[in-house]
Amino acid sequence: MSQIDIQRAAVIGAGTMGRGIVMCLANAGIAVRWVDNNPQMLEQALAAVTETYAHNVRQGRIDQAEADARRARISVADYPAIRDVDLVIEAVYENLELKQQIFRQLDGLLQPQAILASNTSALDIDAIAAVTRRPQQVLGLHFFSPAHIMKLLEIVRGAATAPPVLEAALALGERMGKVSVVSGNCPGFIGNRMLRTYVLEARKMLLEGAFPYQVDAALQGFGFAMGPFRMYDVVGIDLEWRARQLAGKGQEAHEVQVDNRLCEAGRFGQKSGNGYYHYEPGSRQAEHDVQVDALVQEVSEGLGYRRRDIGPEEILERCLLALVNEGAKILEEGIAGSAQDIDRVYLNGYGFPADKGGPMSWADGQGLASIRQRLLQLQAESGAHWRPARLIDELVSAGKGFADHRAIG
Ligand code: NAD
Repeated sequence: MSQIDIQRAAVIGAGTMGRGIVMCLANAGIAVRWVDNNPQMLEQALAAVTETYAHNVRQGRIDQAEADARRARISVADYPAIRDVDLVIEAVYENLELKQQIFRQLDGLLQPQAILASNTSALDIDAIAAVTRRPQQVLGLHFFSPAHIMKLLEIVRGAATAPPVLEAALALGERMGKVSVVSGNCPGFIGNRMLRTYVLEARKMLLEGAFPYQVDAALQGFGFAMGPFRMYDVVGIDLEWRARQLAGKGQEAHEVQVDNRLCEAGRFGQKSGNGYYHYEPGSRQAEHDVQVDALVQEVSEGLGYRRRDIGPEEILERCLLALVNEGAKILEEGIAGSAQDIDRVYLNGYGFPADKGGPMSWADGQGLASIRQRLLQLQAESGAHWRPARLIDELVSAGKGFADHRAIG
């Protein structure tokens, strides 16, 4: 039983994530006050939540009384009206200055014992905590989209986060029926940090000769719920594109040129009917689009690549080994407490095939000595970023696997 009991919560932000997070809290019996500086957004969000509950009733998942009880726990509020809550979860735009401004405001407003959490996907939790006078009460609660459905909750421990605060977050995760994994603080935490290296390989292969549907087919053939380009279509290709524009950098990298061209053409993914694939009106069925293949070819040839055939074996090899090597670095740095934690992140948040046990367990199954050889081979062919993580060298020398490794402390 945790010492900090969370009875009243507030959510800041009524966008995609705020909506799901509010439902997670209300469904777990927690009264939640909802703040957004855009009243129209809040109104639409409340209507969307009410409709989700009505849909759950129509589907027979909950009865009307339960739907009413859940809905009654949610109330619209402004900042002054949340001063007595035990926990705030912030889910506004992914922008450090904006989050810092909100945390400064919350710190001045809330009781000293209240916990302040951010749903940031990748920003520095310590930089957010640093603007408050209570960094020990600050942590990341990284939900996945849609938050009321996805099982994973990454709980991000800042340098100053107090153990009872972490325990309260774990207890909250359990109450919400989540699979909680504690992560250290680094860009992207466990899941998105690994995803970055995996997606980078996928994008490189588009330039070298593969087409999006081929990359996705290879990974889906392995058992992933979705290949990376289908995933981008669901998430929205424009999110990273806009973030690069805001940051004023990264737009020129070869690997994002296909994304840039798709976004410039208004192809943002499923929501705009076209992205890496085509979608018929009202359909979520991803249809192969030859126009996208032509665009990929044009971009890569324009950048001077000489395209070659890339088969499913190479696609799998490069994407999986990118995940495993980054996972090993995450383990080595103590960002994840165990290989099992990394696997739980990938199984519950990223659609990794359950029968393969997660990327680290898959690597153990292959034999780490073989994984190391394959990484060395890739390093010889394509450069230093494939250099095996130090932990892989150490485990292979000791005849051990990832499952044998435990982070110290
Ligand atoms: P969104 O754009 O859908 O919603 C953001 C909301 O914040 C908007 O309703 C906006 O009006 C509100 N807002 C902005 N400034 C505000 C302020 N000062 N006070 C109150 N409200 C304010 O964003 P989203 O997709 O829900 O993402 C929110 C956060 O969650 C980001 O940090 C994002 O990185 C993270 N996240 C997103 C996803 C995803 O798939 N969308 C997944 C995991 C984490």
